[in-house]
Amino acid sequence: MAPSRVVAVLGSLCLAAACLSACASSSTTSSNADGANQLFVATTVAPITSIASAVAGDRAHVEGIIPEGTDSHTYEPAPNVAQVFSKADLIVVNGLSLEDPTKDLAEKNKKASAKILVVGNSVIDPSQYIYDFSFPKKDGKPNPHLWTDPVYAGKYALVIAKAMSQADPKNASYYAKNAAAFVKQTTALANALRADQKTVPRKVLLTYHDAYAYFGRTFGWTIIGAVQPKNFEDPTPVEIARLIDQVKAQKVPTIFGSEVYPSKVLEEIGKATGVKYENSLRDDDLPGNPGDVEHSWLGLMKYDFTTMVTGLGGKATNVSAVPLTFVSPDKAVYPQ
Ligand SMILES: [Zn+2]
Repeated sequence: MAPSRVVAVLGSLCLAAACLSACASSSTTSSNADGANQLFVATTVAPITSIASAVAGDRAHVEGIIPEGTDSHTYEPAPNVAQVFSKADLIVVNGLSLEDPTKDLAEKNKKASAKILVVGNSVIDPSQYIYDFSFPKKDGKPNPHLWTDPVYAGKYALVIAKAMSQADPKNASYYAKNAAAFVKQTTALANALRADQKTVPRKVLLTYHDAYAYFGRTFGWTIIGAVQPKNFEDPTPVEIARLIDQVKAQKVPTIFGSEVYPSKVLEEIGKATGVKYENSLRDDDLPGNPGDVEHSWLGLMKYDFTTMVTGLGGKATNVSAVPLTFVSPDKAVYPQ
């Protein structure tokens, strides 16, 4: 490295250090992009960012960390993420071991006054954790996908609203009102699904990514397997052969891939078994673009439930009819 380049790098490191210490001594609120003094909430995956944003509306700054379309399970935060954490007043992570490296970085870089809310762990008792194909008990990491179950998503909003209200009491009633409106949406979607799933001959899911375990338990769907191995690499030929047998034995009309993990393997299994391969389920990559109304937790789950119900031969009339609206202005930052 040339000496001038070393000086430049040292200079920027000093600037970063100065920023970190200046930010660390700031008050309970931070400046957002509009320059307004607002509560700064850092979040991890996009569905949680969307839920936090529904609660925050235009009174708190919400900034996601994990870019959409990346694998949140193996995500290692980029060094510049430390700066976001150093500005945050409240850091919301899913927990259940989903984003451990990101949580570690948050703990190392947060302001002394900033709180970390591990939202998943605060809505479920460990006795209710699900361990399964991709998340075996012997590894000690439960299935972390609580937010694909509308019942837990509603609880997320309430817990997030409480934490935001503690950090920013003057807006407590606004956050509570937004959280209540969001819970109304989750309840409407759950009721619509309960009506539509009566039209599904067999509520069985074989997915690539194992993201619907809690949803399955709450709504009475059987998760017969997940293709993706626990190390998130492609299955071995032996595992593929086993899956082909399993698909044939279960006589499922559709197997469900994940939009984040395009899987040639699932396509092959589909061909080998004559079963439809639907490759567009998503668990943490919201549909559409930031600012679009479908780019939201509700947009995500409406899409998934419609795809599951119709893929298995049912009619998604009620889920499709759930009004897709924001409960408050969505000003959150969603890294792409
Ligand atoms: Zn996932």
